[in-house]
Amino acid sequence: MNSKERIAKALSVASDTRVFEMGEGFVSKVPEVFASLFPGRMPLVVADINTWRVAGQKVYQLLLEAGFETGVFIIPDREFHAEWKYVMMVEEALKASGTVAVALGSGVINDLCKLSSSHLGQSYVCVPTAASVDGYSSFGASIAYEGVKQTFDCPAPVAIVADVSVIAAAPKEMTAAGYADLAAKIPAGGEWMIADAFGTEPIIPEAWHVLQDVLSDLLADPEGVSAGEPSAIASLFEGLTLSGFAMQAARSSRPASCTDHLFSHYLDMTHHTYRGKLQSHGFQVAIGTLTMCAFFDEFCKLDLSTLDVDALVKAWPTLEQEQKRALALFEDFVDPKLGYDVITKKYQGPEDVRRELEYYKAHWAELRDAYRAQVYPFSKMKRLFEIVGAPSDPSHIGVTRSQLKAMVPKTQLMRWRINLLDLALRAGIYDRLVEAVFGPGGAWDLSKEVKDN
Ligand SMILES: [Zn+2]
Repeated sequence: MNSKERIAKALSVASDTRVFEMGEGFVSKVPEVFASLFPGRMPLVVADINTWRVAGQKVYQLLLEAGFETGVFIIPDREFHAEWKYVMMVEEALKASGTVAVALGSGVINDLCKLSSSHLGQSYVCVPTAASVDGYSSFGASIAYEGVKQTFDCPAPVAIVADVSVIAAAPKEMTAAGYADLAAKIPAGGEWMIADAFGTEPIIPEAWHVLQDVLSDLLADPEGVSAGEPSAIASLFEGLTLSGFAMQAARSSRPASCTDHLFSHYLDMTHHTYRGKLQSHGFQVAIGTLTMCAFFDEFCKLDLSTLDVDALVKAWPTLEQEQKRALALFEDFVDPKLGYDVITKKYQGPEDVRRELEYYKAHWAELRDAYRAQVYPFSKMKRLFEIVGAPSDPSHIGVTRSQLKAMVPKTQLMRWRINLLDLALRAGIYDRLVEAVFGPGGAWDLSKEVKDN
């Protein structure tokens, strides 16, 4: 299947997005796409100071030339983040002019347009300026509300018009971040396979295949991505867009994220900065992704066919014990009840745990082979990140290995979804895995702390 066929197939599983056009010089397509989807409506180009210069002005001119009475809204601040006040600003601008947004920018501008448009009961056209995140085509917007980043439910854009020339010219570190966000789908897929084996979140075939069947191909040219070659950038952007379509098909982010992303959520929630700057979503996710690849490496070295299921079930804690553990673990965290709420939702009793462990014990060889086939070894993922210029060590985002180690038990309890760490706790191998990853000779050997330079 070529890219065109893949996209056509992918659009058939996407519930919100109907048009996805991608190619060099494609900003020229914005007026006809807008006209076909919003007959009789007028566009409002929403940009920031930078993206206005990069492509916004051009799109504005094209829309004017096509006869649209076009408005412009530029975020007034040079430094801004996905915050509620900007959603309100965009919403006011759209409401006052009765227009439809043409989102000209990266993930933040897109999320602002996504949520404000949804508040007004309308859709919008997305014109991405960087292959930096998978959020363009995803269901939901990630916005900080009263200082806490949250994902608000809202439909993906009805149309995405991706100009590869514009996207390829984005700052290299934005592209590297997008590459890492796409690579995260590798271990995230492995963890979805675990939830599927447990039966808690069965794999949804159309959401799985649209992305996972082509994911390795779309990650296969890190040199091209690093060099900003249009064909490599197009593959990367296609992968990010397919991730969003998979999320639309599943109506959840399960196809695109698991524990890999929870390290990033932790850093967001604790307002982590490095050299005075918040670190991009993709850069944070890079470290979570590498960490989960390392965990899978160590996990696949073990033999679960010899589990003593009776003893493990006997040792399995009660819900009350787990709630107590969660409260202690999150005691000093910004949201002290988070772990408690999560474990209350995802706790399973001894009979479920017995069934899951017996399944793993009986099918270990095939399950292990399937995880090995899905999840890249740590060494391979690290090499890919080095080539594209994404972080390949936690020090690159200002996190020490011991800080990373301290996050691990929290990530197990930050989302109700079943993950590899849940399985490790059931199988009595959790401490061994942590020791293997952070101990002598491990991927994040604590005694070999790296200094960033
Ligand atoms: Zn992501």
